Amino acid sequence: MDDGELVAHWLDGAHNPVICDLVDDLHARLGRKVEALQPVCRASGRCCRFEAYGHRLFVTGLEVAITLVRAGVSLDSEDLARARMQGRCPFQRDRLCGIHPHRPLACRVYFCDPSWESAMEEVSSSLHERIRRIHEMWSIPYRYGEWRDLLSLFVREGAV
Ligand code: SF4
Repeated sequence: MDDGELVAHWLDGAHNPVICDLVDDLHARLGRKVEALQPVCRASGRCCRFEAYGHRLFVTGLEVAITLVRAGVSLDSEDLARARMQGRCPFQRDRLCGIHPHRPLACRVYFCDPSWESAMEEVSSSLHERIRRIHEMWSIPYRYGEWRDLLSLFVREGAV
């Protein structure tokens, strides 16, 4: 399957309300866990400055499509190149997230609060397994990769 076909499958999934509801349900589950454990976020922006803090954001192609469709943002290869050069996410605005309500699961799960670390690993792997199963249930091609790498597929295919 070539990149264009992959992106088309993911965008189809992102326009399917049942699939979106399943993903929203995972976000809600995570939200309840975060609510219960209250990890601290000081809005430092560290989680979005990948290179500076040795952090990598991994997502699936379907998640990228859902984020882009919902956020309705435009992005081009120059935006991506600039973000890479600066070692950050292309959607970071100052220290904040420019697409906060639509950010993918991996952004929702990451807090730099050390007391959250063990819960983060457990929650993140169980939710990710559920995301993988959504791909299986709906025969959506599964690709798991670095955020900016997958975003660049959508940019190259003119889908954003
Ligand atoms: S999507 Fe938002 S929260 Fe996630 S890395 Fe980018 S700016 Fe940060």
